[in-house]
Amino acid sequence: MTYALKELFRRFALSGEGAVRDRAADDIIDYFIGLMISGMQTKVRELGLVFDVEFAMMFQDDYRAYMRNILNGFRLRIRDFIEEMERSDEELDYRLGWEIDRIIHDQERYMREGGEMNAYILLQWLRPNVTITKTWNANVGDPKTCGICLSMHGTTVPVGEPFLRPTQVIVLPDGGFVRYNYIERQSPIAHPNCRCWATINID
Ligand SMILES: [Zn+2]
Repeated sequence: MTYALKELFRRFALSGEGAVRDRAADDIIDYFIGLMISGMQTKVRELGLVFDVEFAMMFQDDYRAYMRNILNGFRLRIRDFIEEMERSDEELDYRLGWEIDRIIHDQERYMREGGEMNAYILLQWLRPNVTITKTWNANVGDPKTCGICLSMHGTTVPVGEPFLRPTQVIVLPDGGFVRYNYIERQSPIAHPNCRCWATINID
């Protein structure tokens, strides 16, 4: 799949034709949604629930819009790169490979974990009498862990609520603050290559 997937990204970035581009974008997005569905299916089975197709559909529309934005940004960066000056094929190949790998890496994680999280959201939905929360965990002892992740460490929220929302203010360990301005995060991911993880608490 990886080779075919990378090929779709290349087609999306380099094709001038709207229809080819749209088709490639849909196929890329379908691939990531497939990961969410399979992550959810596996966890749903583990939890002894029945997979609910309609419930899984709920999470798809926002993702399509979000992913289209990411893809369009990627395409514009590649177009700019091509137009800036004469680029060799090697340079373009390198830049494309780097951008594509980064997006795939982030989205694969985001969707797999998102799928698992959705299974717990389904569980909460079916069992209103139990309280399910999730906790953000960061690599606290690691000097490479960023201030946002350190600040989020230990944050516990109901499983159906996001850890991070656009415009949310995060107070950093050094007393400064940043305004989070990205999409809602149901999983503990603050930035590309974030290594944080969630624990689920069921009472
Ligand atoms: Zn992190």
